[in-house]
Amino acid sequence: MSDGIGSADCSRRGFLRRFTLGAGAAALFPLFSCDANPGGKGGKYFKSWERSEALPDAEKLGVALVGLGSYATYQLGPALQHTKFCRLTGIVTGTPEKKDQWYRRYAIPEEHAYSYETFDRIVNDPAIDIIYIVLPNGMHAEYTIRAAEAGKHVICEKPMATSVADAEAMVAACRVNNRKLSLGYRLYFEPHHEKVMRLGRDEIFGPVREMRGDFSFRIGENPDVWRLDKELAGGGPLMDVGIYAVQAAIYTVGTLPVAVTAKEETVNRELFSEVEESIAWELEFPGELRAHGASSYSRGANIHHAAASDGWFELEPAYGYSVVRGRMSEGELEFPRVNQQALQMDAFADHILNGAENRVPGEMGLRDTKILYAIYEAAETGKRVALEL
Ligand code: NAD
Repeated sequence: MSDGIGSADCSRRGFLRRFTLGAGAAALFPLFSCDANPGGKGGKYFKSWERSEALPDAEKLGVALVGLGSYATYQLGPALQHTKFCRLTGIVTGTPEKKDQWYRRYAIPEEHAYSYETFDRIVNDPAIDIIYIVLPNGMHAEYTIRAAEAGKHVICEKPMATSVADAEAMVAACRVNNRKLSLGYRLYFEPHHEKVMRLGRDEIFGPVREMRGDFSFRIGENPDVWRLDKELAGGGPLMDVGIYAVQAAIYTVGTLPVAVTAKEETVNRELFSEVEESIAWELEFPGELRAHGASSYSRGANIHHAAASDGWFELEPAYGYSVVRGRMSEGELEFPRVNQQALQMDAFADHILNGAENRVPGEMGLRDTKILYAIYEAAETGKRVALEL
């Protein structure tokens, strides 16, 4: 079983493959389209997974969560109870008690509950199609590569990796093993953010002239958290949450930055001995457009603002799981609350099952890793760093 698919899985997947490639696909996914592309000016915003019926459980892709910390426990596990094309079928944890907790909560049986030591046995588990890496950043590369080598598709949490070389190796491992790779970029599936993509790219208020983004929070005084450990985190608030502001600047205009300048500021050198406390950067886009970004672990901020030639639009709070609020020069931006994580995971399942566009692919994570590390380089050297993306 070279790709880790057992016989039971073969029949289930065989069915799915036949079904999704054949006439049945049109019946089950009547609105299926490869145009789920928010990119490009005038791009369509058609989302098959939002309008489709849920698959029966036995036909959904199985997802295993790796690392049962706060995000997996309070966001992804619950979100997987609302997904239409995938469902929670496995866990990987280093804490035996969590196996019992997740069994009680989600009926994940022992045979689909792995430890980090037994992780590679997933290759023989037909119930698991997608492995979702929710570990500290410095562990993403190792587990993404091992998951791809076990023949599973992968979703990796942000930030993708703690070096550009690692991000490249992750993309390569998925390519060599013919597996799909996606990132945990949930805001691509949030309607306020999708609207911002349209407003910016379609130049509804004329061309965007300037952007400002800031995602910051107070991390507290405990020095023993992985987010303050360089090896596990890769960096400070920029890696953790500043990445959202970098991403928002890019997807608002649908253009890539060409250079960056940046400045770090660390006041509490005892607590922030390994990673930055605060950082500010400026992304330079072709022409006059600039995006000012900032991120800190010692204050609060949650905003994305775009000023265009004939108006403006902004989100604040911009990056939350549940509440996102928006306004523009012409009034409020109001959209219903969605389960971002469920939409994100279903979009990836739709990509695997039906060839819908992978809107947040591994290559995007690699691109962002290059930008994050260019920001650090600019801050360290005090020089403008050109980006070749
Ligand atoms: P967390 O600390 O709550 O959980 C981390 C998990 O990894 C824990 O279960 C821990 O036991 C496990 N782990 C395994 N080996 C470890 C080690 N050597 N050191 C520390 N922990 C170890 O963290 P979290 O907030 O759940 O974040 C996990 C990942 O998810 C991070 O990459 C983070 O950036 C990402 N995240 C994404 C979002 C989002 O909105 N997309 C939100 C929160 C976190």
